Amino acid sequence: WKNAPPTLRDLLLIGRSFGEKTFLVHEEERVTFEAFARASIVLSHHFVDLGVEIGDRIAIVMRNMPEWITAFFAAQLCGALAVPLNAWWSSSELSHGLSDSGAKLVVCDGERLERILEAANEIPQAIDILVARGGEASRGSARTLESVIGTPETWHALPDEAMPTVPLAPDDPATIFYTSGTTGRPKGAVNTHRNLCSNVMAHPFSQARSFLRRGDAIPVPPPNAPQKVSLLSIPLFHVTGCSATMLTALHRGTRLVLTRRFDEEEALGLIERERVTTIGGVPTVAWRILDHPARSRYDLSSLQVVSYGGAPAAAELVRRLEAELPMGLGVATGWGMTETTATFTHVMGEDYYAHPTSCGLPLPVCEVRIRDADATVGPNTVGELQVRGPMVIPGYWNKPDADAATFDDGWLRTGDLAFLDEDGFVYIRDRLKDMIIRGGENIYCVEVEDALYAHPDVVDAALLALPHPTLGEEPGAVVVLREGATAGHEELNAFLTHRIAAFKRPVRYLMLDEMPRNPAGKILKPQLRQLFAETLRRNEPA
Ligand code: ATP
Ligand code: MG
Repeated sequence: WKNAPPTLRDLLLIGRSFGEKTFLVHEEERVTFEAFARASIVLSHHFVDLGVEIGDRIAIVMRNMPEWITAFFAAQLCGALAVPLNAWWSSSELSHGLSDSGAKLVVCDGERLERILEAANEIPQAIDILVARGGEASRGSARTLESVIGTPETWHALPDEAMPTVPLAPDDPATIFYTSGTTGRPKGAVNTHRNLCSNVMAHPFSQARSFLRRGDAIPVPPPNAPQKVSLLSIPLFHVTGCSATMLTALHRGTRLVLTRRFDEEEALGLIERERVTTIGGVPTVAWRILDHPARSRYDLSSLQVVSYGGAPAAAELVRRLEAELPMGLGVATGWGMTETTATFTHVMGEDYYAHPTSCGLPLPVCEVRIRDADATVGPNTVGELQVRGPMVIPGYWNKPDADAATFDDGWLRTGDLAFLDEDGFVYIRDRLKDMIIRGGENIYCVEVEDALYAHPDVVDAALLALPHPTLGEEPGAVVVLREGATAGHEELNAFLTHRIAAFKRPVRYLMLDEMPRNPAGKILKPQLRQLFAETLRRNEPA
């Protein structure tokens, strides 16, 4: 079984077969598939020379740039685990990531070198540091990546070397991605080669299904159709950026446009300049493009698909996108977790418009079930979503307690509350941890947030539990209004009157200028709860 596909090494070979087509666009730099493959191979030999062995961990701490992806594949080729760490982390968070994973090598960029040097002093193990774009002078023990592989513009001139000969098998671990930390401290999820390759391979089947289910033919691109172009608007250190976007681009010969961090003005400019066909991210990315005042000044006619997931998406979003931003294939959405190696459910186009509050059907070859009190429940009943399939991780990194709490006989307990309809579409209602219980009545945040989003003044909304002495909890809403809008508590609750039951309506509102989010674009509810509690305390008569 050793050396049998699928592994990420096979994926690199598939990508390499696109040869002189452009794979990566980063500012003014362009890297072909061939140049990228050469750089990854040359770097992997350097890793071996540094003493990296099968099963070792190599941390990557950079903003989105070509070197990130090269370091990722170089790690795979020598049988090491790539450990993408959050590039926004402070030095103490980084030292936690480095010591938790036991990384023996870290590849970082110049912007993060200071933090990495600090973190390296705090961890128990010795660690080699390679720095990209760190300037001429190497600092401390750090050496420059440029001295090994040069800069992306010169990768095409690197020698064509054979890959290191290491045995790789589909069920070997390939990566450790840390979860977003929306509900607590991030946990390291171990994804195998099979997990990552399954995510990549399932995408075409899932897209095809959106047409076939409705009896429509799969659209055929015209002959000489230009190369597909995907705009990466999320960090590569999240599994969705890495697997569902970057690896998928490598697999399908898609040009990948990298951005430093999401900025709607820059994204609009890049869609026009690079003739982008696909843009994906969290729902906020789509909202910000849709609502940008200068949107009509840009030529967005190349767009085929706008897709989003990773956080609840209001039905209002797909309605407006469908109406205001005509696209070749349409709007797509999905649900997934770090533990499911990105996308796990998916739906696109007409099939999505017919189910605008759903996050789609499980990818082909995946299974879902809804559990309540250890029994599987039928359609239209809310319970915990549990999932099984080839993209579900085997476990967490060094966390036997989390493993025991999360896995149930091959099924992953997602911690999300959901229901299925008769056709098997999945509807997420809330996270188990976020659900509000008001005097015994369950309130699912997504339902109330969805109703708030339908108000024309509301830009962003989050519902959360406020403690109550006798009811236990009651709902409070944090709302961001459109600039200049004046809707208050009374108007918003009057608006909700026709939409949701009285017991679900927020008893208090907190208006903010901006919603606190993590780098993944997810609302930080623990932070909001604290903020809400402080505001209430301040406003209370002494
Ligand atoms: P942590 O586990 O560290 O608290 P996290 O769960 O946010 O963080 P991720 O693995 O990035 O880390 O996110 C997975 C979660 O994101 C899911 O469990 C779900 O709650 C939420 N999510 C993903 N997609 C959707 C979606 N389409 N609709 C609603 N929620 C979603
Ligand atoms: Mg989670």
